[in-house]
Amino acid sequence: MLGGYCSSFQRKGFVFNTGVGDVSGLWEKGPITYILEELGLKKDDLFVRNRIRYIFKGKEIDADDLDSFIRLLSEMFPEEKENIHVFFDEAKKAYEECYREADMYGTPLPGELIVKVFGEKKLFNYPREHPHFYDWMNKTYKEKLDEYFNNDDLKTLLCGLLGYIGTSPEKTPASRALTACVSYYLYGGYFIKGGALNFAESLRKVIEKHGGKVLLKHKVDEILVENGEVRGVRVGEKVFKSRIIVANINAKTTFLELVGEDKLSREFIEYIKSLKMSPSCFMVFLGVDMDLSTYPTIIQNLDEKYGIIINSNADPTLAPEGKASLTILTLANYRDFPNKETKEYLEKKKAFVNKLIKKAERIIPGLSKHIIVIDAATPKTFEEYTFMPEGAIYAFDQSIDTKRPVFKTPIKGLYLASASTFPGGGIEAVVISGNICANDICGWKIPK
Ligand SMILES: Cc1cc2nc3c(=O)[nH]c(=O)nc-3n(C[C@H](O)[C@H](O)[C@H](O)COP(=O)(O)OP(=O)(O)OC[C@H]3O[C@@H](n4cnc5c(N)ncnc54)[C@H](O)[C@@H]3O)c2cc1C
Repeated sequence: MLGGYCSSFQRKGFVFNTGVGDVSGLWEKGPITYILEELGLKKDDLFVRNRIRYIFKGKEIDADDLDSFIRLLSEMFPEEKENIHVFFDEAKKAYEECYREADMYGTPLPGELIVKVFGEKKLFNYPREHPHFYDWMNKTYKEKLDEYFNNDDLKTLLCGLLGYIGTSPEKTPASRALTACVSYYLYGGYFIKGGALNFAESLRKVIEKHGGKVLLKHKVDEILVENGEVRGVRVGEKVFKSRIIVANINAKTTFLELVGEDKLSREFIEYIKSLKMSPSCFMVFLGVDMDLSTYPTIIQNLDEKYGIIINSNADPTLAPEGKASLTILTLANYRDFPNKETKEYLEKKKAFVNKLIKKAERIIPGLSKHIIVIDAATPKTFEEYTFMPEGAIYAFDQSIDTKRPVFKTPIKGLYLASASTFPGGGIEAVVISGNICANDICGWKIPK
């Protein structure tokens, strides 16, 4: 299948995404907006803005844009009204500073690349030129929230999208919370029209239009390395020779299984082995004979810690007329699921499905009586389909405790571009990683 975690499948006319439902990076200076323009793709053909509802302490909060979100929060927490305005004002400044250099290459850069691309002086001046973002770079999200707010409920509410990072507020780098959570309040999130596979298909067409080939059913068994330099990859008996290989799979698999420990230093191997994976997910896919069009596309239940994505509300072609396709998601731990072949596994899966449907039914009454299509994915399913260790949905842990591998590896010519490297998990993030990798391979030529 094309797309990895950014894919979709069809059952009896209902289309379901394998994961992705809310994509950031599509504002005016967003990395995805940039890449779409570069590739001659149109944003409006591929993406549609999500309508989102938060459920917090039993209250429904419908926030279509930043102004309405600020208004609603100010009504709920009148004593924090001033702070709410100041927080979002500061966050917007910090966010826009983070993307200031994206004007040129379509991506924010980590410190070492700022030196390489723009020179040492730029890095030296970074704190002065990016005062707001610099502050977010050096704190946790909890510290930032504590700086602005007194009310614990408000702080909890503003952590409502931390599931998009998979970390707790005290362990989340504020800069990551800004780009992967707060950004959704600032500039909204988007759904991929036609289902997530459609985005991957569009990229495949661009590759093929330029003479490239996309090979499915080719599992790389080995990355060939000689004298510390990459030489190609081996797929079964077939060898594809190349002096440059970009590995888009998890870095643990890349180094420990495909390159081999004997080709790398002990220190590097120990570092790769020590990397903790992010959480995984449990997901229920439902095709129902109900008209759910009065609901928003995304419902995040912060009280019960799960989300509902009604795909057919973003794009009605994703379900037969008058019906709806939806997914219910919650973060899950890989270790909670026994081996797939066992009876315990099936029981556990069934119990999870029933629990999530029951919860969702409190929001969509009668849901369980209208199911036409039902399926579910456990952490083991995610692992099986993408070979991602532990079915981790954002590759490595995204907390302050984990330092992701750099895109340039100790093997000459071998690069990483994926959720394994900077800046992390999520579609916007992996687009950034690919962009950095491509620019580095091509020598950071100034675009026309
Ligand atoms: C349930 C879920 C919900 C999510 N929701 C969102 C969301 O709403 N918004 C968002 O922005 N992000 C979301 N994400 C995260 C996002 O989907 C991922 O971070 C992103 O798609 C990862 O892309 P990637 O390029 O790193 O690789 P992957 O998607 O992991 O793809 C890697 C590919 O490599 C292939 N592969 C593995 N091993 C080999 C091998 N040996 N040889 C050849 N091919 C191999 C795999 O089959 C796969 O196709 C979600 C993820 C999940 C799982």
